[in-house]
Amino acid sequence: MKKIQMVDLQGQYAKIKDSVNNSIEQVLNTSAYINGPLVHEFQADLEKYLGVKHVIPCANGTDALQIAMMGLGLEQGDEVITADFTFAATVEVIALLKLTPVLVDVDEDTFNINIDALKKAITPKTKAIVPVHLFGQVANMDAVMEIAKEHNLFVIEDNAQAIGANYTFKNGKKQKAGTIGNVGTTSFFPSKNLGCYGDGGAIFTNDDALAHTIRGIVNHGMYTRYYHDVVGVNSRLDSIQAGVLKAKLPLLDSYCNARRNAARFYNKAFANNPNIITPTTKSNATNSCGEICDVCDCHVFHQYTLQITNGKRDELHKHLLDNGIPNAIYYPVALHAQKAYKDDRYNETDFPVTNKLIQTVISLPMHTELDTEQLEFITNTINNFIK
Ligand SMILES: *Cc1c(COP(=O)(O)O)cnc(C)c1O
Repeated sequence: MKKIQMVDLQGQYAKIKDSVNNSIEQVLNTSAYINGPLVHEFQADLEKYLGVKHVIPCANGTDALQIAMMGLGLEQGDEVITADFTFAATVEVIALLKLTPVLVDVDEDTFNINIDALKKAITPKTKAIVPVHLFGQVANMDAVMEIAKEHNLFVIEDNAQAIGANYTFKNGKKQKAGTIGNVGTTSFFPSKNLGCYGDGGAIFTNDDALAHTIRGIVNHGMYTRYYHDVVGVNSRLDSIQAGVLKAKLPLLDSYCNARRNAARFYNKAFANNPNIITPTTKSNATNSCGEICDVCDCHVFHQYTLQITNGKRDELHKHLLDNGIPNAIYYPVALHAQKAYKDDRYNETDFPVTNKLIQTVISLPMHTELDTEQLEFITNTINNFIK
């Protein structure tokens, strides 16, 4: 059996070596390292793939979030609501910009922002909502967009984990994750579903004026060379990374399918285990699809995350490592309990779900190169330990 990895970037690279190497060589041969033609080509390819008017590449997914918030003109004291159960980057940029982060609880079945908690957190100071499409599954965007419209709020989709996912609205309309709100952001960190070989990120929007503002912000606030109209940042996707991404983008749908196939195998293997809850797409309020969403592709399984309900999560974590099966606890601490983001306004009773999830979740190996032998070994090892 091949050695099991959490993410198998080497195995994936071996299959696309020629096209990736050609792209990189093209950059080396022209020395157009910054803002070269491949950056513009990748940008145009991604706009077409996502069906969005504007893609603005930038240096990483954290910058993308920060720049999106700057572009919307959010100001000190504005409240921005996001999920308590996510990677810290989401809340970090809110705090960094001196906006006020407001963390709310998530749903137990989708791990995404809880709509009732979101509604309850709205105050006259609320200016924006940041739904995070966690682990690759799109949040309930019907409800988020409805609430945003009712209260005149911006929606910034943190799509770092769900690029390629499709969302089907209640009325049947389909849209790619990240293109639904006022603005969406993503990360091309190597282990993300569309990863480059370094750091990278992008911002998406259908709003022409916002796209113009953001293009200036990523480039030192310049709209005319050496005239700085606003305070900006330096945040670029370099040409080599754009070349890698241009070579990989045509494969994104097949990568999403490979992940879904692995998820299907896992789901089936754990279906009758009374102490394991598998990730579900069933209860996503907008979907009528089954166990794994083949119809609307709303989940691209950036992570495959189980809940272990018999209190043996930490023992399982160790047992799997002892058996050569990498695994991870995403996330071990709720954001509201992190030193950097503690706030007297929060009550522990506001977060029953995240407080439970941090003790029960475990993420299994999930990538495009998992084979049946590996999946069988992983699932048998788990089912023999958790009964
Ligand atoms: C990875 C990630 C980010 C940050 O992306 P970087 O490119 O690492 O800066 C932001 N939000 C979420 C949910 C992520 O998973």
